[in-house]
Amino acid sequence: MAANSETASHNSLERIASASLSQPRQVPIAQKAIAVPQSSRSSPSIRQWPNQTRHTLPDGFEVQTLESNQDSSRWSYRSEHFDFVSDAALPDEAVEEFASLFELTHLYCSRLPFELQRFQKGKNHRAGRLKVRLMEDYSNYLREGGTPESGGIYLTEPDLILIPFEGIGLRKEDGTYQLDSTRTNQTLMHEATHMMMRGPLLKDGWFVEGAAEYVATIPKKTNTLHVDSHLDAIKSYVCDYGYQDRGGHNLGPEIEFVSLQTLMECDYPTFQEIPNGYPYALLLFHYFAHADGEADGQRLRDYAKALNQGAENGTARKILLAGRDYRTLEKLLTNSWEKDGISLTFRN
Ligand SMILES: [Zn+2]
Repeated sequence: MAANSETASHNSLERIASASLSQPRQVPIAQKAIAVPQSSRSSPSIRQWPNQTRHTLPDGFEVQTLESNQDSSRWSYRSEHFDFVSDAALPDEAVEEFASLFELTHLYCSRLPFELQRFQKGKNHRAGRLKVRLMEDYSNYLREGGTPESGGIYLTEPDLILIPFEGIGLRKEDGTYQLDSTRTNQTLMHEATHMMMRGPLLKDGWFVEGAAEYVATIPKKTNTLHVDSHLDAIKSYVCDYGYQDRGGHNLGPEIEFVSLQTLMECDYPTFQEIPNGYPYALLLFHYFAHADGEADGQRLRDYAKALNQGAENGTARKILLAGRDYRTLEKLLTNSWEKDGISLTFRN
């Protein structure tokens, strides 16, 4: 039954595209194998939101080049948890950057206070490295499952990330690809988060995309995620042009929100049609993770726990509402973000 219910949930959410290319969500990847420690999670009963201010890859982080075949247009690279296959040769710095982003996302997600099937060996755990394809030609990307205008996509079946070169700032100069270092790394971390969360948690659009945006906005510098500047990065990404001007939604400090009932209860395809649904989801996810209730993310953890135990998303959402109506929750969300300089109003 577990397998059947999981299949059902995937059918409703088979592909998870990143935001459109017109939205500033870009990323760099690279090529190295990384010695990331196995999940350091504590037991579920005492699992807390990751409280480290920094998450760093171990010194042994490296990427191997497995294949470099001009004739077959196939280049492959391997890090600790990922295999990257590209149909064009990539510079070492790009491959190292990409692999670092994927491994950091793997590391951070392993520390999230949710039971992620990905990290539960013996329970739908898939042996072997996770697969990422880097695609030079955008039409090939579309043919293999990418959605128009997107900068990357996670396909739950066959558990694969597709990334088109143009979505991540790879540009050809003098016959070789170079990485545009002024772009952000958010697309890769966003899609990698979906991959890490594969399973019963991929149901509500706001939660699926809010979690991916949450992880993707953690600032990264040299194999380290800097959680201590995450809140500033989120505000910059939502209100302005993003961390170091690398891309943001530029909604300004006064944001008109769709009603929370619509945002939280709509199905996944409807969520994707909501203008600015991604930054809304990010602000809501952050609120539940860090401000609601005792500011310990407890309700969000309980919501995820219910989904993992097979609850319908409508049932699980009641845990988040905790007897409150949506208007009350909108006021709490507004008051919380007001303290951080963002003014919300709701279209009800
Ligand atoms: Zn997404």
